[in-house]
Amino acid sequence: MLTLIKNVNLYTPQPLGLKHLLLAGERILAIIDPRESLPTGAYLSTFDAQGLTAVPGFVDSLVHFCGGGGEGGFTTRTSELNFAEAAASGTTTMVGALGTDAITRTLTNLLAKSRELSEQGLTSYFYTGSYHFPATTLTGSISTDIIYIPEILGVGEIAIADHRGSQLSVHELARVASEARVAGMIADKKGIVFCHVGDGKAQLQLIHQVVAQTDLPIQQFYPTHINRTESLLEAGFEFIQQGGVIDFTTSTTPELLAQGEVACSEALDRAIHRDLPVSQITFSSDGNASLPEFDLNGQLIGLKAGEVSSLFKVLKESVVEVGIPLEQVLACITANPARILQLTQKGQIAVGKDADIVLIDRDEWAVRSVWSRGRNIYQNIGG
Ligand code: ZN
Repeated sequence: MLTLIKNVNLYTPQPLGLKHLLLAGERILAIIDPRESLPTGAYLSTFDAQGLTAVPGFVDSLVHFCGGGGEGGFTTRTSELNFAEAAASGTTTMVGALGTDAITRTLTNLLAKSRELSEQGLTSYFYTGSYHFPATTLTGSISTDIIYIPEILGVGEIAIADHRGSQLSVHELARVASEARVAGMIADKKGIVFCHVGDGKAQLQLIHQVVAQTDLPIQQFYPTHINRTESLLEAGFEFIQQGGVIDFTTSTTPELLAQGEVACSEALDRAIHRDLPVSQITFSSDGNASLPEFDLNGQLIGLKAGEVSSLFKVLKESVVEVGIPLEQVLACITANPARILQLTQKGQIAVGKDADIVLIDRDEWAVRSVWSRGRNIYQNIGG
C-alpha cells in the first residue's frame, strides 16, 4: 500500500518548502518536488495536506508510561499512559522508565506496556533499572537486559544529586556505565545511562568524576531535568561544552516555575544566544510522572501529572512566544534525541526512514494528523 501526502510545508527538521511525501508500508519511499509528476494507481491512497506543516514524529526520551509517583502515599500514584492521548500528542517514539518506585512498579509491567503501545502503532522502548542502585533488572543484569530485550536501550533513570536516589559512589556509577556501554556494543545499541538529576548540591559532579577517573566518555551519560534551576542549567551548559548531552523537561506547573525552574523555551533560547552546541540539547516530557504541589510548610496539597502533550506545547511556546526558528526547536524533540539514543530510523523525514510524520496547523497551532510507521494513528481535521 502506498500513501501520498500532498502539498506539505516540509521540515525534516530542516525547512525544505513545499513537497509531497510518498510512503510505502512503514517507510518513506520518496520526497517529491511539486514540479515532478505524481504517482497514480489503484494501490495509492492520497491525503491532501494543503496549508499544513509536516514534521518528524516526536521522539520522547522519558515517559513514565506505566505511571509514576507514589511519593506522597498510594493515592499519589499516577495513571498509565493512554494510547489515544499519546497518539494525539504528535509523539511517535517514546522511551519508558520506572522512577522512584521500583517496588510496586515493575520492569515486567513496563515491558508489557511498551509492547501494548507498539502494537497500537507507536514505537516504544524503555530503560532497565530505576532510580536505584543496584539496578533492578528483568533478566538478572543490566548487560543481559540490554543484550536480550530488543526494547531496552540502556539503563535509567539512575538518580543522582537526589535524596530519593541511592547516593552512588563514583565507582558504582562507573560500573553501571561500563556494563551498559559494553552491552550496548554487543547489541548495537547506545547502552545509554539516562540520569535523573535532582535538586541536590552535587548537580552533575558525579558524572564529571566518572569521566575524569575512568576511560568512559561523557557521551555515555544522558542527564535530564537540567532546566530544574538556574544553577543546574549553568552546570548543564558547561556539560555540553565538554561534549556531553543534556535534556530539559517540558512538563511543568506554575508552582515549579515560580520556584525557579527555567522554562524549556527560555533555556533553549539562552543556549542559542550563547552559541552553545544546541544539537546536544533535547526535550523530554517526563509524561505521567508525578508533579507534587507543596504549601509553604512543605505539606503536599495537590498532585499533577506530567503530560506527553507538553512537547508540542513547548514547541508552540518556543516558536510563537520566544521566536526561536521552528527547525531549531524541532531538532530538540526529533533528530537530536534520535541520534543520541542511536535510533537510526527515527527523528527525520528522509527517504528510507520510518514514516513517522506529524501534520501541524500553524495557524491554530494544533496537531492535525499523525502517521506512525506508515499508519495514520490520529486525525483531527477541521477541528
Ligand atoms: Zn526524573
